[in-house]
Amino acid sequence: MRVRKCGQKKNRKKKTTKKQAWDSFSLYIRTLGNFTCVQCGATKEDGAILQSGHVIPCGQGHSIRFLEDDVFCQCQSCNFKHSQDNYDYFEWFKKIYGESKLHDIKSLKNTTGYLWVNMVSSFNKNDYASIKEYYDHKLLEIKDNSSEIA
Ligand SMILES: [Zn+2]
Repeated sequence: MRVRKCGQKKNRKKKTTKKQAWDSFSLYIRTLGNFTCVQCGATKEDGAILQSGHVIPCGQGHSIRFLEDDVFCQCQSCNFKHSQDNYDYFEWFKKIYGESKLHDIKSLKNTTGYLWVNMVSSFNKNDYASIKEYYDHKLLEIKDNSSEIA
């Protein structure tokens, strides 16, 4: 699998465990989303650059950074628009999952940490490493399933 390089910094800093965890998580989210923007439907074939966008921005905190319910495959353009004004993304989410779900995620935002089902006080290197491992594994699982269908 080719690794997308456009997000890499020019100073070639070694990838942190946090970044590695995000890369695996993000690839999982995008694969799950069939590399199609949930908002406008753009795909790689359309020339779209696909990213993973938080509905409720995770900001500096990490409590909802890896919350699957909050992150979906978005094209760069929709993701950028969302960073300026999140109204459309909120509306899309509410239509699919309901307004109460949005409130649930908002209420998690300022908790100390959220790792799947466990609350943790903060993520350490081991947590990031296990997040990466977990999503690498999940990715293999969905790939196996799709090859069975094909
Ligand atoms: Zn889009």
